[in-house]
Amino acid sequence: MKKIMTTTGGNPIADNQNSLTAGDRGPVLLQDYQLIQKLAHQNRERIPERVVHAKGSGAFGELEITEDISQYTKAKALQKGEKTKLLLRFSTVAGERGAADAERDVRGFALKFYTKEGNWDLVGNNTPVFFVRDAYKFPDFIHTQKRDPYSNLRSNTAMWDFWSLSPESLHQVTILMSDRGLPKSFRNINGYGSHTYSLINDKNERFWVKFHFKTLQGIETITNKEAESIVGKDRESNQRDLFENIEKGNFPKWSFEIQIMTEEQAQSCSFNPFDLTKVWPHGDYPMIKVGTMTLNENPKNYFAQVEQASFSPSNIVPGISYSPDKMLQARIFSYPDAQRYRVGTHYEILPVNRPIVEVNTYNLDGSMNFQVKEPTKAFYEPNSFDGPVEDSSFAEPALAVGDVADRYNHRIGNDDFSQPRALFLLMNENQKEQLFSNIKDAMDGVPRNIVDRQIALFEQVHPDYAAGVKKALGI
Ligand code: NDP
Repeated sequence: MKKIMTTTGGNPIADNQNSLTAGDRGPVLLQDYQLIQKLAHQNRERIPERVVHAKGSGAFGELEITEDISQYTKAKALQKGEKTKLLLRFSTVAGERGAADAERDVRGFALKFYTKEGNWDLVGNNTPVFFVRDAYKFPDFIHTQKRDPYSNLRSNTAMWDFWSLSPESLHQVTILMSDRGLPKSFRNINGYGSHTYSLINDKNERFWVKFHFKTLQGIETITNKEAESIVGKDRESNQRDLFENIEKGNFPKWSFEIQIMTEEQAQSCSFNPFDLTKVWPHGDYPMIKVGTMTLNENPKNYFAQVEQASFSPSNIVPGISYSPDKMLQARIFSYPDAQRYRVGTHYEILPVNRPIVEVNTYNLDGSMNFQVKEPTKAFYEPNSFDGPVEDSSFAEPALAVGDVADRYNHRIGNDDFSQPRALFLLMNENQKEQLFSNIKDAMDGVPRNIVDRQIALFEQVHPDYAAGVKKALGI
């Protein structure tokens, strides 16, 4: 037997085809509440899109730990044999929600692990570094990626103006303009936690860590020209590829690996290991295999499970924690703040965001609180009514930090050129040609003084880099 359609109040609906009118040609009546409700609800079907990473695709999967790394971490989800359900959301950064997938951009790689000790979110990208190293510059940088307020057009000039005035961006700009800046699909990218995080073992010893997810489908990229023809036919090429592959059981996989740096090594490291514009060279900090990540389930409802998915690097579990990385520190604040605004005060109770463990906070009220707890006298803390209490066994080891507060100039004494140079030198001739040609395309319409200032930075990376770009530009 078919179910009877109802109003949102649960009352049966007699007619869902014809609105209530005065006579068959007449005006509609205000009492047609169901018509008004449908239109009003439609007006509210969208939530504010993410300011960055607005266009995304997601899937559920599993992280399986195959190796023993208990010497570094006590996190239950990272113990050998453990399997943890996860959500992975891929995205582009700059485009709006309706943007085409096949665009040259960094790809977001945001993970939420539903562990037995609460949610662990690792909100990274398909690049190991970033354009800026101080969140003070993040809103400025994002303005250059979005639209010019006057023309409402994306602006190559704004991008290269900012980059050419910010040498710390050279590393990420080189990756973005390389072949890897335009992936063939989400299945063909690596994921990087990007920031330095920490692992803490059962002796309460801290290790600094970088997280890597290496695609087992292989890195595959497309050229600007190929992207043009793809976008002309299909704006959803990456969403389609991910959805259809999972739908037919061709589950994408990544090798989960880490790099470890001890606290002593960090003190003597030649660069700041908490600088988001730097990688840790593999030769010095070798990759350690940890496990495998598989995506094996499409979301049942895109809006509920992907659009409302709310990731935040503030979600850590015992055995995994933060680091002094200035960008990470800022994201620990700004991501939950974005979710409270975008989704709502109680975004963490939504099914896709809710941890699988019991949540025991003293938070109360707020808009749209749809959680009804058993009545308790313990609605503040401390209390004498058996409410949840703190447990000092979860305290992290103390961290020594510098003690003179100031606005330290992050550019003084900072080498912004060696690592982009190492990257440039490992590109083959074809990759270098793609790099030069992609930069030429991206510099279309940029005033000469800004182009020259950027070329001077490329020159400091490597003379061949500057020469290649100049030749492509016909300078
Ligand atoms: P390695 O030779 O050990 O590592 C080079 C890495 O570069 C590999 O992981 C490779 O990824 C990656 N790579 C190759 N081509 C590109 C490209 N066009 N865009 C982005 N990444 C690419 O050297 P180092 O560890 O000393 O690093 C040298 C440079 O490689 C760094 O300065 C950095 O620019 C880049 N890199 C380093 C990473 C790291 O964590 N050390 C991670 C990613 C890039 P794959 O193995 O998947 O092909």
